[in-house]
Amino acid sequence: MSISEGHKVTASEWENRARRVEPRTRAWIGGRFTDAVSGERFETICPRDGRVLAEVARCGPEDVDLAVRAAREAFEDGWWSKKAPAERKEILLRLAALIEDHLEDLALLETLDVGKPISDTLAVDVPAAASYFRWYAEAIDKRYGEVAPTGPDSLATITREPFGVVGAVVPWNYPLILTAWKVAPALATGNSVVLKPAEQSPLSALVVAELAAEAGVPDGVLNVVPGFGEEAGAALGRHTNVDKVTFTGSTEVGKAFLRYAGDSNMKSVSLECGGKSPQVVMADVPDLDAAAASIASSIFYNAGQTCHAGSRVVVDRKVSDELLERVVALAGETPPGDPLDPATKLGTIVDGRQMERVLGYLDVGREEGATVAVGGGQALAESGGFYVEPTVFEGVTQKMRVANEEIFGPVLSVIEYKDEAEAVAIANATSYGLAASVWTRDAGKAHRVAKALRAGTVWINCFDASDVTVPFGGFGESGNGRDKSLHALDQYEQLKTTWMDLTV
Ligand code: NAD
Repeated sequence: MSISEGHKVTASEWENRARRVEPRTRAWIGGRFTDAVSGERFETICPRDGRVLAEVARCGPEDVDLAVRAAREAFEDGWWSKKAPAERKEILLRLAALIEDHLEDLALLETLDVGKPISDTLAVDVPAAASYFRWYAEAIDKRYGEVAPTGPDSLATITREPFGVVGAVVPWNYPLILTAWKVAPALATGNSVVLKPAEQSPLSALVVAELAAEAGVPDGVLNVVPGFGEEAGAALGRHTNVDKVTFTGSTEVGKAFLRYAGDSNMKSVSLECGGKSPQVVMADVPDLDAAAASIASSIFYNAGQTCHAGSRVVVDRKVSDELLERVVALAGETPPGDPLDPATKLGTIVDGRQMERVLGYLDVGREEGATVAVGGGQALAESGGFYVEPTVFEGVTQKMRVANEEIFGPVLSVIEYKDEAEAVAIANATSYGLAASVWTRDAGKAHRVAKALRAGTVWINCFDASDVTVPFGGFGESGNGRDKSLHALDQYEQLKTTWMDLTV
């Protein structure tokens, strides 16, 4: 089924299909679905109407232990870890193809579970997830080891070995994509994986695990333990038989994983955490309309629930009114709507708790003295779902909480500056450092400012331009790891030096 065919499905047909969805709801351990040892389940809610979508196995420490044992056994037996890279490649390519074959089912499931517009899950989330599996599959049989330039009497090789058992803990904002960012390079390098999806969005990961088995990934190599962070997530972080944790989520929980590692077996920990990404708009911005469109999309896409959302605009006061006028108009053209309607561009917030958090920040901004230029409240409350109007705060200063704290909703803060030095100082005045942009037609200034911005990615005259070939991750409290690109493979391998004395 192609994307364009999927786009022809009407809102009412999606609703019909939604009624027939039968999600997988049990944990996937050792190559089969299984209930939690406790027998307990938790509800996952559909954010478009607040109804219960499914009751899912609530995994705890015992289930995590079973999954880790299955992963360790698979790793030690070499069913996967000792396969030739070219063999792993073929299996992961089949998995990519199977994900594409299930485009509409997966897109619908993801939309129902997290409230993303169906047009996005069809065009972005599912195809992107498949593409990451394909890219890492293709990459893995093209990596070579090294021979160190020692001396004539020795031969020293530097080779890469998989860690062993990788715990992958992901958030709810891009469940499929972030699963692929972690699982694809971890499996490609020969590791076994125990994946803990977020409690708000456990469903698509269970389908990926089932498809992986169908593609030929051996039992125990990929396990999925749905459950709560403090239970399943913490058990994975503290487990002494887990060699590596790769985490995406909040900075607070990222710090907890560092503590878990220190308190247990000093496992390697890679973190992708929060952000408060600045977009520096200079007076000589080349195309104000294009900049406004990009800025609006950077904060309203996925209802602002994007770690690198461009949530702070730092704009030269000479062009701030013109820019604001355009962004406000675009916000008006992007009302929240039913995620199952193919015309919807702005879907829901993931759940009631997160919506209350976002609405709380709208109060905070007003109390701090910022002015609401557009939006400012809940929408479509009668649906029972969790919708927030696209909102722009003007008159923000960097001291305000809405300029410093991650809101994770469709809320933009606009801060004015008077000169380049002040722009850079404002942009860098957070503990985060995930992404940033600079908009100017002066190439020298663009590079000078890009160099001065503390962020893992800096875009010049664009925002969120990306593909799998470039690494993604943060400076400071935005984390320490890099997903995507060949660099991500390094996170799942250890270097081994083998030194041979050639004189004996
Ligand atoms: P979160 O940190 O609360 O949860 C993320 C994951 O960690 C979930 O699976 C959750 O169950 C688990 N978890 C929660 N508490 C835990 C604990 N005490 N011990 C172990 N595991 C625990 O984050 P969230 O609210 O699900 O997601 C939003 C956050 O993720 C935002 O801060 C956002 O910026 C960040 N994020 C970052 C990136 C990135 O690449 N840098 C990408 C997406 C999201």
